[in-house]
Amino acid sequence: MAITDVVVDDRIRAELGDRLHQVLGCLYAGNCQTCGRPLGQVPTTLSVSDLGSAIAADLHHATCRLSAWREIQITWADAHFRTSHTIGFVMPGESQGRPDPRAMLLVNPSLEQVVLTRDRGGRPTVQPNVGFQAAGLRTPLEVGFDRPLADVVAELRADRAVVVFESGLFGPFEFVLDQETYELAARHGSVVLAVTHAVDPHAVRGLPDLAPVMGGQATVMGLVELESVRRGRPNVPGPDLGKRLVVQWDPHEIWAGELVDHQAELLSDADAKAWAEQRLAGRELHPWEPLGAAGPVGWSTVVKDLHNQFVLVCHSDGWRLVELYARSQGTIDEPNARAWASEEIKHRLGIPAAVWTPGPTSIDATTLYAAV
Ligand SMILES: [Zn+2]
Repeated sequence: MAITDVVVDDRIRAELGDRLHQVLGCLYAGNCQTCGRPLGQVPTTLSVSDLGSAIAADLHHATCRLSAWREIQITWADAHFRTSHTIGFVMPGESQGRPDPRAMLLVNPSLEQVVLTRDRGGRPTVQPNVGFQAAGLRTPLEVGFDRPLADVVAELRADRAVVVFESGLFGPFEFVLDQETYELAARHGSVVLAVTHAVDPHAVRGLPDLAPVMGGQATVMGLVELESVRRGRPNVPGPDLGKRLVVQWDPHEIWAGELVDHQAELLSDADAKAWAEQRLAGRELHPWEPLGAAGPVGWSTVVKDLHNQFVLVCHSDGWRLVELYARSQGTIDEPNARAWASEEIKHRLGIPAAVWTPGPTSIDATTLYAAV
């Protein structure tokens, strides 16, 4: 059950408004995020770290941290303190009028912490699956099971399944399976992975308990192939240039370029700039300028003398540093944005138009990605 008995200070109540209920609905009494020991001995407090573009809400002992809305990052909680609970089961389903049950693996990756971003109006909104969307997982309404996730794989061992994210950013997550679920996974060569903050998987006793998982924004899902199946398939040749391209536009401007690096940690703007400067070491940079006319969604800088331009943008899954190919002011719709970006890429790299797919983005913006 989500936590109910928690100390929340007035500033947090004022900042979150009716979304406080949504935040508390995603938190469970696991371990204190300051000391790592179980919650429950003394009153539990809700602490919020507002890093500007990203906000983290987590639980602590009242004796370890007072409830407060803090604009600075005070010692980021040790990831090892976060509790992940998992469960594996058979999910009934249908395909073309015939029963098509699937092996389902459900994980809540952090009982005691949830991440928020700001919506278009600048209000904090629960974005509990920050990072997982970058690995290709999608909400239950958007998800398709026609293709397995590219960088996530599952292994069957003895009585369990282990899900590994090749990025190393999450997990590995272990799921104990009954024989029926195990055999179903083996027969399909795949499992359905669901990452949720809507329930504590250890409290799930039957299918009715899963209703909150399938609604709302607190769950993302994807099809995960078994490692044994993946190994048996011939390698598909990858893109030729090994470049990740990014195009992003908002109501005021559009830019396109090549991804230099991605930082999935929740960093303050100052720390993100320091990270970017480290990645651009050896280049003398002009001061960072705010990016985004409607409100800062990131920063841009120009290399002195060479004039190549870089943008540093905060997305729902962390910061991206992009070397710009082109940038233009004005309003643009999606078909024209795609056409503009493809033309600029062709001009710069001399290759045909890229295949763009949507991905993590900033407030009020649309971002597409392509590999070439
Ligand atoms: Zn504590």
